[in-house]
Amino acid sequence: MSGSGIRFDGITVAYDGHTVLDALDLTVEPGEVMALLGPSGSGKTTALRAVAGFVRPAAGRVHVSGRDVTELPPHRRGIGMVVQSYALFPHLRVADNVAFGLRARRTPKAETAARTAEALELTGMGDYARRYPRELSGGQQQRVAIARALAIRPDVLLLDEPLSALDAALRSGMLAELARLHRELPEMSMLYVTHDQVEALTLADRIAVMDRARLRDCGTPQQLYRRPRTEFTASFVGNANLLPVTVTGDGVSLAGRPLKVPTGTAAPGATATLCVRPHLVGLGPGPNALRGTLAEVQWRGATHRLTVDVDGHRVLADLRELPEPPALGAEVELHFAPDDAVLISALGPGTGPEADPATVLEAGHGHDHG
Ligand code: ADP
Repeated sequence: MSGSGIRFDGITVAYDGHTVLDALDLTVEPGEVMALLGPSGSGKTTALRAVAGFVRPAAGRVHVSGRDVTELPPHRRGIGMVVQSYALFPHLRVADNVAFGLRARRTPKAETAARTAEALELTGMGDYARRYPRELSGGQQQRVAIARALAIRPDVLLLDEPLSALDAALRSGMLAELARLHRELPEMSMLYVTHDQVEALTLADRIAVMDRARLRDCGTPQQLYRRPRTEFTASFVGNANLLPVTVTGDGVSLAGRPLKVPTGTAAPGATATLCVRPHLVGLGPGPNALRGTLAEVQWRGATHRLTVDVDGHRVLADLRELPEPPALGAEVELHFAPDDAVLISALGPGTGPEADPATVLEAGHGHDHG
C-alpha cells in the first residue's frame, strides 16, 4: 500500500488483561473516508488511538502511508487528529493554535505563516485568526481544531466523534463542511469514529462496524444497508425487521408461513434471520403476504410507521402516501418483494459471540463486498 492509507494488521489492545480491541484487520485506502461505527465502548477510539500512537498494541502492526509506524512516536506518524472536545489552547489566538504543530516541528517562519493561513482558509476561519478560542462558538472552535490538524499536511486525518459536542443544526452543517474538505483534499485518508449512523452514512466511503472489541462488518454504506452480513449491522445501520426463519427448498418459512426469498447457498433446514427494511414493506395484498393485527400506528411526518403483530412477531412497515391508516386491532396484510429481503446467518454475532461475519449466507444479488 502506497499513498496515504492506513492498515491495521491484527491490532489487539488490552487494558488490565481485558481485550478492548481484538485482532483488528482493516485497510483504509489512500483518499478514502472510513467510518468506524459502533456503540459506546466497542473499541472505536482505541483503534484510532492505536493509529495515532497513544496506545500501544499488545499485538499487531499499524501502517500509515505504507510505513510501519507501530514503534514511532505520535508526532512522527504523519497524522492529524481532531477530538470531540476541540482541545484548543485557551491562551493562544486562533492562528497560534493552528501554527502550534508546525512550530513544534520547527517549520520555517514563512512556511508556518503560509500553511496556517491556508488551513484557516480551508476551514472557512480566515477572518478569525486574531481571536481567542473563548471568542468563538463551538462550531467555530471545532473548525479551528480541524485547521490545526490540517496545518501539518497530514497523510491521514483521524477524527474522534468530532461533531458530538455540537447541537443538531451545527452538526449537519459541519458534516457538509467535512465532505467539502474531503473533496478539496482528495489524497488525504480520513478515519472517522462515530456512534451516529447518519454521520457514517453521509460521510464515509466505507463503514467498519464495531461491536464488543471486534470488527463485525465492513462495506460501503449501500452494501451495509442493502446486504447487511450480520444482525448487528442490520439493526445498527438503518431500521430492520429481523424475522427468525427456517430455510426451505425455495425460500424460507416464518412460523410455517412460506416466503419466497433468495436463499443463496443456505442449506434447507437451517435456521436464519430474514432482514426486511420497514420502508420496503407494503400494505395490502402482494407477494410474500404477512397477515396480522395492527398493534400500533405512529405518524412520523413523511411516513406512517405501522407495527403489525404477525403470529407474535412484530413487523414494522414505514408507509408513505397513507392518507388514512387502518384502525388499531384491524386485520391487515403486509407484503414485500422477494429481492428486498436479505437472509442473514443465524450464526451472526447478534446471536453468538464467536461467529465470523463471513459466515453470512450469500443471499440475493449484487453482493460485492470489498
Ligand atoms: P468507543 O470509542 O467505541 O466508545 P473505547 O475504545 O473508548 O470505545 O473503549 C473500549 C473499551 O476500553 C471500553 O470498555 C473502555 O472502558 C475501555 N478503555 C478505554 N480506555 C481505557 C483505559 N485507558 N484504561 C482502561 N480501560 C479503557
